[in-house]
Amino acid sequence: MSLRIRCPHCGPRSVEEWVHGEIPVVPDAIADPDARDVDRGYMHTNEHGVVREAWFHLSGCRRWVTLWRDSRTDEWVEPPG
Ligand SMILES: [Zn+2]
Repeated sequence: MSLRIRCPHCGPRSVEEWVHGEIPVVPDAIADPDARDVDRGYMHTNEHGVVREAWFHLSGCRRWVTLWRDSRTDEWVEPPG
């Protein structure tokens, strides 16, 4: 069974309908705007644990959804309180 994502607009849908990416957090120590763009585009943290991700429902409503996923188990989790 493939991973399913609950879209708030379309309901539960197969992961194949989506594209996603890590939401980048650029360190404050990087002040140069060009260096910040490079960090944002290429320096992925690939966290091991609970991560915040942006998912785009490409084959559905074409809207962005922010989700929290445990990268160790591929299970959706509630946002940290
Ligand atoms: Zn949708």
